[in-house]
Amino acid sequence: MRKSISIFGSTGSIGCNTVDLLVRQGGANAYNVKVLSGARNVELLAEQAIALGADMAVTADEASFSALTAALVGSGIQAAAGTQALRDAAFENVDWAMSAIVGSAGLAPTLEMAKSAKILALANKESLVCAGELVKATCKKSGCVLLPVDSEHSAIFQALSGNDARNLSRLILTASGGPFREWSLEQMATATLAQAVAHPNWDMGQRISIDSATMFNKALEIIEAHQLFDIEPEKIEVVVHPQSIIHSMIEYKDNSIIAQLGAPDMRGAIGFALNWPERRALPVEKLDFGSLSRLDFTHPDEDKFPALRLARRAMEIGGVAGAVLNAAKETALDRFISGDIGFLHMAQLVENVLEDLHLIANTTSSLSGLEVVMEVDHEARGRGRVWSPA
Ligand code: NDP
Ligand code: MG
Repeated sequence: MRKSISIFGSTGSIGCNTVDLLVRQGGANAYNVKVLSGARNVELLAEQAIALGADMAVTADEASFSALTAALVGSGIQAAAGTQALRDAAFENVDWAMSAIVGSAGLAPTLEMAKSAKILALANKESLVCAGELVKATCKKSGCVLLPVDSEHSAIFQALSGNDARNLSRLILTASGGPFREWSLEQMATATLAQAVAHPNWDMGQRISIDSATMFNKALEIIEAHQLFDIEPEKIEVVVHPQSIIHSMIEYKDNSIIAQLGAPDMRGAIGFALNWPERRALPVEKLDFGSLSRLDFTHPDEDKFPALRLARRAMEIGGVAGAVLNAAKETALDRFISGDIGFLHMAQLVENVLEDLHLIANTTSSLSGLEVVMEVDHEARGRGRVWSPA
């Protein structure tokens, strides 16, 4: 029987890589594609849905509904639009669902997938950052298997297999250091959008590329790892590894370290999740150790990248501090992209909002439900929008 599949955020960077793998692995002949979703890029969404013979294409953007319908004319593929349609589609039973919407907009659909999919391939790290307890409890209740797609967490998942997580002594997340690894703070203060988006190793969506430049991406990943692997924050370490060949490592009590290596290509982690528990050939470049001249490692500079400190602060506050951190970060990102604030202001804004709301965050649990988390998210965004540099 063909495996039934849905991809939420199929028009994004992770989504397109997922579609590419599905096509290479037999497309509609091999998979029963149920739902593909996007937002503004409805031409691509329709093209993907037709190529994979999907049952349904959903755009989160209601204004794009007529364009989607027009692009699907004659295909027999159903079109839908809006956030409720997205949630309903995410609730459909499938063997494998990919959660690859960007930002906390991905949380509600992720929770629906966690209720109804057999396997949830999770790229949307924000879901775990904002509501890790709720996502895990939802998967536990339904029996859904949660597989990480983030390359670091996929590496850890792979390194952990066959080993007992209780024997872990350290989890080492690698970070490329982004485009500003060797810049001074003074240079970073005037960094432009184009400079922030130009990631040295990974080809990713605009927002996560800027998050790599601030290292907010790594900050989210620390919290993501804490949630996914139930490991104490003090056991999670970040090491800057500019070549992005080691995707992350784990250390056991006996100081033995297991690393997962590969070329920096997200199709490695996506393909691992797609084929799990099997392994299949993937279109990822083979590592040639003869031509890999060196692998470098340094400690991150937390004065230049305060995001790492803020992730630890959020875990110390507990409750839904991750949701506050993420919402403030998303607002800061919007303001940086629109040219309203400078590059270094992003972390200042997040710190300010996190401290402002730390009591509310600390006394709120994501287990109270999605609405409660989204209220806190809303409050943090409101504060983030009115923050101004001193
Ligand atoms: P992109 O920005 O490339 O794509 C985002 C996707 O979400 C698109 O399909 C977009 O639709 C859709 N979308 C945007 N806004 C909304 C909304 N409000 N509601 C519903 N859908 C929306 O992101 P990435 O693929 O880079 O990242 C996706 C997720 O994966 C993020 O959580 C990111 O952190 C994570 N991730 C990404 C990696 C990467 O290599 N890119 C690596 C590891 C994790 P449209 O384009 O049609 O408007
Ligand atoms: Mg990552």
